[in-house]
Amino acid sequence: MNYRMLVAVLMALLIIPMTARASETDAVPKNVIIMIGDGMSVGQVTAARVVKGSLQLERCPVGGFSATHSADRLVTDSAAGGTALATGQRTNNHMVGMTPDGAPAKTLLEHAEDAGKSTGIVVTCAVTHATPATFVAHVDDRGKQTEIAEQIAAGNVDVVLGGGQQFFMPQSSKGSKRKDDKDLIAALRERMPLALTADELRALGDVDSFAGLLAMDYLGWAADRNPPLREMVSLALNALSKNPNGFALMVEGSHIDWAAHANEEARLLGEMTDFDDAIGAALDFAEADGNTLVVVTADHDTGGYTPLDGSLADKSVTKGAFVGDDHTAIMVPVFAYGPGADAFGGIHDNRAIGEALIGFVQQAAAEAPAEGALAGAAP
Ligand SMILES: [Zn+2]
Repeated sequence: MNYRMLVAVLMALLIIPMTARASETDAVPKNVIIMIGDGMSVGQVTAARVVKGSLQLERCPVGGFSATHSADRLVTDSAAGGTALATGQRTNNHMVGMTPDGAPAKTLLEHAEDAGKSTGIVVTCAVTHATPATFVAHVDDRGKQTEIAEQIAAGNVDVVLGGGQQFFMPQSSKGSKRKDDKDLIAALRERMPLALTADELRALGDVDSFAGLLAMDYLGWAADRNPPLREMVSLALNALSKNPNGFALMVEGSHIDWAAHANEEARLLGEMTDFDDAIGAALDFAEADGNTLVVVTADHDTGGYTPLDGSLADKSVTKGAFVGDDHTAIMVPVFAYGPGADAFGGIHDNRAIGEALIGFVQQAAAEAPAEGALAGAAP
């Protein structure tokens, strides 16, 4: 080994630990993952921690709170709550990816796409449902799911994983919710490998882009959901991480909200457990990668759930209460891990979370070498 080689090796040894320590919480991440527990506030997290013993979530060194109010209501819905996280702008309830005056608001995923990054949505509801829609579509009413499907099919999102076949199928297909002959499943399939079942999803192999519409509407409850959200997140990360420019991914534990609406405590805890397992998959990736920011929060609380009795020794919650069967205005927790995590400590309005994530994506784009944006593009 000559002197120059020795110097190079020593330099590398110095640089590797520095990169590994890129979890330093004030750096700019290459990859961003936002995980939304729909309807998840402190009571839900507390009860999940009792029944699991400990949470993957506890690996996040930074914590804070998000005030979830929308532009026109103290109590938000998922459309306005999601839009704030996705675009950094508050809007009126029921509006998706738009400002209150109806102008499209650019989303985190669209900013990431501009920066040459891959993008993805992974949810347990229909991919056209309010929360995922706020990251990939722009409509004035969350009920327009067939229109949201058109925007997804015509868009550039690299990983689309959840339910919602019925909004993509032509009206002639049994169970279709469309009022036209557009075959958006065929349109998606033209753009990327597509799976309609869990088995087909697992058979897709080592791809860098895919769509999985695994149910007509939403996927089943966590107790018998196949695949579990953790596996869905792992498959998405495997595909998205092939882009040397990085990626932006949104993950939602959609059913937490529905269990809370129904005041079904056992289901709620099952959904929280499934969501926390998925958080573990994202944190495992981020830990190994060293350049990935993971932010976990909620779009709003649902039900005002509070555990009232149980046992740490038995890992059980034997009594809990809901204040109602709808969303509340209570603040929701925010957890962050990885480079940039410091930005999420303390109390923020929900829109500030989206603004910070978008800021990182823009900063990463500005700092990347010019040809970097083309590295992953086809000739
Ligand atoms: Zn809800």
